[in-house]
Amino acid sequence: MMARCGGSKADGTPCERIVGASQTYCFAHDPARAGERRRNASRAGRGRPSRELAEIKVLLSDLTDRVLGGEGVETLETGRAAVANQLLNTRLRAVEVERKIKEAEEFEERLAELERVAGQKGERGWGA
Ligand SMILES: [Zn+2]
Repeated sequence: MMARCGGSKADGTPCERIVGASQTYCFAHDPARAGERRRNASRAGRGRPSRELAEIKVLLSDLTDRVLGGEGVETLETGRAAVANQLLNTRLRAVEVERKIKEAEEFEERLAELERVAGQKGERGWGA
């Protein structure tokens, strides 16, 4: 028989993730792994987008050089430069959307954790 996670989702309904026989909670709800989750989340939040941003900046700078021309630089035709600029812009937006989604996910996870902790305190007789 498959066991399900004993945690609750952000909306209060039970988490439906399948967990191993020796586990009570899935990774997202295991209180023992909260620190690990936070580290993962902040790594995910910081790491990739900034690397992608750095790459986009290099491409933009290269593109600018090529539009302006100059010594030893092959001047890029304006139409192609405009398309390249649009593509970079689109990529920039994608990075931003990705960052927002990660932020929202991290927030939801932390909220679920807070609600779980608050629920436990309630069961121990708060407001009784
Ligand atoms: Zn869970």
